Amino acid sequence: MPEFSHHVGWLQDVLDTADAAEKVAGSLQDQMRRKLEEGISVCEAVLSQNPESTMAKHIKERIDRLLAGSTVPSDNAGSERTITEADASHLDRIIEGVELGVEQMRVRLEQQERATPREYCPHALSVPFTLVNRNQPNSFKNFPRHWLDAEGGRAPRTYSLQHGQFSYDIVPERFARERQDVFGQYDARYNLVRMPEGFNPSSPFALIPFYHEMVHVAQGSQLRARMGEEAFRNFYDGSKRIILPFEIEAYGLQFEMMDRLLGGWLRAGAAAGASAERMNALMSQLKAQEQHRWLAQNILAGMKIFFPHGWRDDRSSSCSSAFADAMRRTYAPEGQLYTLDARGLPVPLR
Ligand SMILES: [Zn+2]
Repeated sequence: MPEFSHHVGWLQDVLDTADAAEKVAGSLQDQMRRKLEEGISVCEAVLSQNPESTMAKHIKERIDRLLAGSTVPSDNAGSERTITEADASHLDRIIEGVELGVEQMRVRLEQQERATPREYCPHALSVPFTLVNRNQPNSFKNFPRHWLDAEGGRAPRTYSLQHGQFSYDIVPERFARERQDVFGQYDARYNLVRMPEGFNPSSPFALIPFYHEMVHVAQGSQLRARMGEEAFRNFYDGSKRIILPFEIEAYGLQFEMMDRLLGGWLRAGAAAGASAERMNALMSQLKAQEQHRWLAQNILAGMKIFFPHGWRDDRSSSCSSAFADAMRRTYAPEGQLYTLDARGLPVPLR
């Protein structure tokens, strides 16, 4: 469909703003941010009148990217350590392994889907795979490397990540163990996925919680765009915030993905829960390390409640209420719980 001429007039102003914002190297001033956010509303107004407007779609995407730009934090992104060259090189190898392992997992999943076709597939099931793939050319993906370059004056402190892109970081093993972050954790403020030093990407079992974190990366990018950079950072600053629907979705997709990866084995026997036999079978099928047995147990106990309803985003309730309640009980002691209002913005849950 052609563009309407009055829309082209509106969009031209927005385009000028986007051009101006791109020329200002460095972080965006609040005034520029507001103008860009107004620009998004204009694009949305055009799209509501003419959903086919490619011009509005493209400009909106460009502004999303500009607004998602980040600055290298001088406090090394809340990390409790001194970043070294060895960290950066070690992380390069982990990232390489993750990218390879995730691609192998995607292929295995595709083969299983062909062998055992399902009548229904949740929309976002493939998003984590797409994100890792799209992040491959991201030159800021190794956070310690970029931080060292910025400190040494070899790279600008300010950088811009495209919508949906993220960076990796590593956590010293002793911190990871204290927090039981054995497989990674997503830090929404800095758009970082932190992995423990000893992360073993050649174990498919280790990549499953990583898949879960990728769901959070996608959720975080969308929430950042909805809230605006400043409100988003303020929201996540300080005490721990847990958006319950995000956790439910991340576990829902993770469990569905695992079940498909294992050809329906998890769903079929879910009622047996975390029996010793099933734990052993799960761990050997996904090459888990012995030290992570507790996680296999958590997963199987969660699946007992999750299936048979599973995750259906074509239904009014995407998971069973028993599963939603269990998630709420699990997360309640960990920090303030939030839900999302009709506009997709977080509101405290009481
Ligand atoms: Zn989570």
